[in-house]
Amino acid sequence: MKFNTSLLHGNFSGDKITGATNTPIYQSNAFEHQSAEELENIFHNHAPGFAYTRINNPTVEAFERRINFLEGGIGTIACASGMAAIANALLNILKSGDEIVSSPSIFGGTLGLFRNFEDFGIRTRYAAETSPESFKEKITHDTKAFFVETIGNPKLDVANIQAIADVAHAGKIPFIVDNTVATPFLVKPISLGADIVIHSSSKYINGSGNSISGLIVDGGTFQWEEGRYPDLAQAQKRYGKFAYLSKLRSDLFRNLGACLAPMNAFLNSIGLETLGIRMERLCSNALTLAEFLDGNPKISMVNYPGLKGSQWHELAKKQFGGYYGAILTLRVGRKENAFKIINHLRYAVNAANIGDSRTLVIHPASTIYAYASAAEKENAGVYDDLIRISVGLEDVEDIIRDFSEAIDKIQV
Ligand SMILES: *Cc1c(COP(=O)(O)O)cnc(C)c1O
Repeated sequence: MKFNTSLLHGNFSGDKITGATNTPIYQSNAFEHQSAEELENIFHNHAPGFAYTRINNPTVEAFERRINFLEGGIGTIACASGMAAIANALLNILKSGDEIVSSPSIFGGTLGLFRNFEDFGIRTRYAAETSPESFKEKITHDTKAFFVETIGNPKLDVANIQAIADVAHAGKIPFIVDNTVATPFLVKPISLGADIVIHSSSKYINGSGNSISGLIVDGGTFQWEEGRYPDLAQAQKRYGKFAYLSKLRSDLFRNLGACLAPMNAFLNSIGLETLGIRMERLCSNALTLAEFLDGNPKISMVNYPGLKGSQWHELAKKQFGGYYGAILTLRVGRKENAFKIINHLRYAVNAANIGDSRTLVIHPASTIYAYASAAEKENAGVYDDLIRISVGLEDVEDIIRDFSEAIDKIQV
């Protein structure tokens, strides 16, 4: 099955009872069972079935199964948000005293979460840059997870997934990849050696900015060693390759309670079906806009991995098969210029989001990174004069005209 076909047919199963062509929205908290024994078996993981929507739900499961097919996992857990997915994915592995090694250029919310983890004795060491060598330098005896964004938001640096996976596995460390910005249209990280893939499906998978959600996909290949991961090693004895997912769903995920609402799972399943044709158009619009703005004397830097001058271009070209994502950033000299451009745009919407059908812009330094330290901003490639653009589905001529007219308003 090729990509677009897999979005429509991969693990898809409408409704067997009525023939409805979409999985219905099972808006029910609980599920009735014929006998006490039956419910006991479900609660003990001895039989499949639904008990309570905080743990699982048929509409949510239908979405999970489709994503799982797409990313090539052995199982997927959908969460209330991308942040919930990241928290669940890591806390299922880590204990107080453990360390994460992360790329330095990660999403503002994730930076904040990793700061929160410090209060629970979990420390994050940031690699100097997103390279296998930099990750290797930060490994200690306590390193229990590697974390990276395939394309950093908003630095737009590109992770060499296979090379970082090799470093992780040499150190017996599981490798977690946030694939939100790249989407499976550009790359399927499990096929390159990632162990666990995260998504904020609020973004490109949803595609229209109408529901917050997150995903954890497990590749099922990581070997949990008794000495380093005692709980997961225990689960492995019982559940084999499903150790990570079984432990998560029957323990932390159910107890934290950040489950996905059935209605939001439904909306995401609909959005998912057009991911391929949207990404094709979005990436093409982004490349056209980046090439148009590159060289404009009022813009000191256009950052987009699709530009030949980008330091990430060759790796992106090789890893993503000719597409470069739909986010670019501009530096325009001063914060006042950034604000002036944002205020003069007609179509582009000033909003804290990416992956919507409409073009979105934001000034990251004063918003998403408002609470980040100077060093964190520097690492994330966030400057006072930086504008992030999440390119939308409009006709590219209109997007170009919108930016040209707004940029004309500034003095440099
Ligand atoms: C938005 C985003 C998140 C957080 O997802 P939410 O759904 O907003 O909680 C995590 N990682 C990346 C790369 C994001 O862009």
